[in-house]
Amino acid sequence: MNCKDPFPAASGLIFDEPLIFKRSVPGRVGCSLPEDDMEGFSFDLPDDRYLRQDIHGMPEVCELDMVRHYTRLSQWNYSVDLGMYPLGSCTMKYNPKVNEELSNIPGFSQCHPHSPIHLSQGSLKLMFELADYLKEISGLSAVSLQPAAGAQGELAGMLMIRAWHLNNNDEQRVNVLIPDSAHGTNPASCVLAGLKAVEIKSGSDGRLDPEVIKPWLNDSLAGIMMTNPNTLGIFETHADTISDMIHQAGGLVYMDGANLNALMGIVKPGDLGVDVQHINLHKTFSTPHGGGGPGSGPVAVSDKLAPFLPIPIIEKDDSRYFLQWDRPLSIGRLHGFFGNFAVMVRAYAYIRTLGPEGIKKIAQTSILNANYIQEQLRDAFHLPYPDVCKHECVLNDQLQSQYGITTMDIAKRLMDYGFHPPTVYFPLIVQGAIMIEPTESESRRNMDQFINALLHIAREAKENPEIVKSAPHLPKMKRLDETLAARNLTLRWTEDEQGDT
Ligand SMILES: *Cc1c(COP(=O)(O)O)cnc(C)c1O
Repeated sequence: MNCKDPFPAASGLIFDEPLIFKRSVPGRVGCSLPEDDMEGFSFDLPDDRYLRQDIHGMPEVCELDMVRHYTRLSQWNYSVDLGMYPLGSCTMKYNPKVNEELSNIPGFSQCHPHSPIHLSQGSLKLMFELADYLKEISGLSAVSLQPAAGAQGELAGMLMIRAWHLNNNDEQRVNVLIPDSAHGTNPASCVLAGLKAVEIKSGSDGRLDPEVIKPWLNDSLAGIMMTNPNTLGIFETHADTISDMIHQAGGLVYMDGANLNALMGIVKPGDLGVDVQHINLHKTFSTPHGGGGPGSGPVAVSDKLAPFLPIPIIEKDDSRYFLQWDRPLSIGRLHGFFGNFAVMVRAYAYIRTLGPEGIKKIAQTSILNANYIQEQLRDAFHLPYPDVCKHECVLNDQLQSQYGITTMDIAKRLMDYGFHPPTVYFPLIVQGAIMIEPTESESRRNMDQFINALLHIAREAKENPEIVKSAPHLPKMKRLDETLAARNLTLRWTEDEQGDT
């Protein structure tokens, strides 16, 4: 197998780097407009106070130069439309283009959130029905679509759990049990809501053992925050037993349902005793994401927590949809308006296109794909939890470390083979974790190419470790100081930095 340049537009460039960015030629313009013939009108520049003095000379380019510049830059990026994006816990599935078309229908995209209710009936209907589908999928009885991301859904859930206990005069119930494999947002949301995060250990099979929660079953217990399947890609087989124990001790059960890809159409969290969960529409229900948004993290709740949902709630009488504000126990508003509506349109289109059978098939296929990859890699990589997995599998670098090769090296070398690296070093409980989630979108052929690349890298690690250690060799950017890049992100090209930012 040959390495391939994942950024084809960057290869064979005849330009020097600075020339790619330095295209300005004095006097060049991007459009030809007729002379101003609007007599009596004059347009002055704004007041000096509003003009930036530090800009010396805007680029002067023609339209063609401009189009080529941005097209070239866009091709230096990797995306799910270009190749497999196996980031575990991110569910980077293919996002059908029809969803984009639908979310751009002017009736949706130009409906102002302040439009009067009688003129927004179509949008309200869509949200009402989407909430109904999410109730069906989660097996829970009420939904709010307001949270703008998974983490905000968690916060909503934790605020509702807190409000429930306060309403029962149980203000001492603050402990929330969170497994050590949880996503970092879980303890953060819990603490933001005024509760206390208590870390509990996963068992040697990667699952939660009911025994470990026993010491915490007392009247300080607020609840548990479980992820299912957990971030090791393993189904929590004791979920229903644990829910019973938590309920008997007076606590509530939160499920982090960011990744519902393996469950939908097969298992309803409500049947496992879950009281509240969030659902990442931008993962499971298809919306382009990454790079910070946009997201949508609706919360679904059981009867117990329904009175605490954020307001307003969309309701329906015989003839119309309306907003219900009169809910005295509500935790209040979480979003200026209704949430990220365009993401909801995509999720609605996705669910309606697939139907109940299609939704189930997605879950089955994503599980099959992850297990296919896990089995093909079983001999070449160490599997810390070798059981059947759900929508994602976790390997690590244990077999490669004897040659001085780390997970980071493997991830970087994958780029030379044209793949976006998987999630690395997460979950934290697996040393050197490599977490792969192919989703249902990838064909057997695509997965075979990915598997082949990893098998090659495992061989290279033994036979030619230097090439792996010094990877990536082909992409535009080599190894970055990722911490520095995250802390001190510079997105503007300047001449002396030669485009390295
Ligand atoms: C992605 C994810 C989250 C957070 O969702 P955001 O929309 O990024 O806030 C929480 N938990 C798990 C398990 C996730 O994978």
